[in-house]
Amino acid sequence: MTRRQRCREVEAIVDRAVAGERLRVPEIETLLEVEQPDEAALIFDGAQRLRERHFGRKVFLYGFVYFSTYCRNRCTFCFYRHGNDASPRYRKTAAEVVEIARGLAGSGVHLVDLTLGEDPEIHEAGRFDHLVELVADVRRAVGVPVMVSPGVVPDAVLEQLAAAGADWYACYQETHSPQLFRKLRPGQDFAERVGARSRALGAGLHAEDGILLGVGETAADRARSLVTMRAQGVQQVRVMGFVPQEGTPMSGFDAPTLLAEMVTLATMRLTMPDRLIPASLDIDGLRGLEARLRAGANVVTSIIPPASGLAGVSQSKLDIDEGFRTVAGVERHLAPLGLSVASAEEYEDWLSGTRAPAIRARA
Ligand code: SF4
Repeated sequence: MTRRQRCREVEAIVDRAVAGERLRVPEIETLLEVEQPDEAALIFDGAQRLRERHFGRKVFLYGFVYFSTYCRNRCTFCFYRHGNDASPRYRKTAAEVVEIARGLAGSGVHLVDLTLGEDPEIHEAGRFDHLVELVADVRRAVGVPVMVSPGVVPDAVLEQLAAAGADWYACYQETHSPQLFRKLRPGQDFAERVGARSRALGAGLHAEDGILLGVGETAADRARSLVTMRAQGVQQVRVMGFVPQEGTPMSGFDAPTLLAEMVTLATMRLTMPDRLIPASLDIDGLRGLEARLRAGANVVTSIIPPASGLAGVSQSKLDIDEGFRTVAGVERHLAPLGLSVASAEEYEDWLSGTRAPAIRARA
């Protein structure tokens, strides 16, 4: 196929998505294989049009509180894997978390994401009540929606988290290839992780899934991830470019290009136009924000208050203490793209409009 024919093929697929058609796996794969900037520009243009159709020119902002960096697992890509002495370890107290969340909410984020590794003090000691109480404390004290990212937890805990006021449960599969999953998350159960998101949705929580890019997956694996996420019905989907981490088995892997991540993100938008898709500050800080927004993202995540002693996940320090990963830091990058920060009411309206019908009826 000539370059011109290939460009026409990409354009036809993008046009089908923009016309509201459901993309098929081979079409998704074709988009994910795009490496030429002119073809990528077609995908980004379509992604922006669909974002505007579903979300206008408004962007949601998420604050990030990584409150325990202890973890019992040994994910091969993760800086915080058990046994990695290079990573900073800390556990914030409930009072510290509430204070940080209050500051984030005051700065204008729409949601606070409470994240932890599978901390043995919670997961092995069975002290999920601490997590549930923390969510209730933050929800009561701060008032903004809360996402909780605790790893796989028992079904009853998902119900308790929902009852305590959590709005979201985030649990990234990283890949939807069981073979690759075994390499990335050794000792963890593929189906259990998928099931945790389904049960969270059943408990009335919104759910987020995500994939890692550049960890040995093929374009077919990525396409499979996108259709699997679309089918599961999670309300937020993300792609994160892999960042090689010191002290891990994958420290020698190359990071994927920003263009590859943008193409995947934009293809997500064409495949799942009405879902929230984040531009994470946790990969290359503010530097890559505009690119990810140009690819169709409509949420900015990993806003972290400076001087809070908090770390990011992929980038433990980048841009944090400089105060760049803040609402003010992000806002400066929205205007040149014709985007602006949504109001708190707009976010709450979106949340209540996307709850499962049964849950809405109960509310
Ligand atoms: S990705 Fe999560 S579960 Fe895996 S080692 Fe890192 S913190 Fe633990």
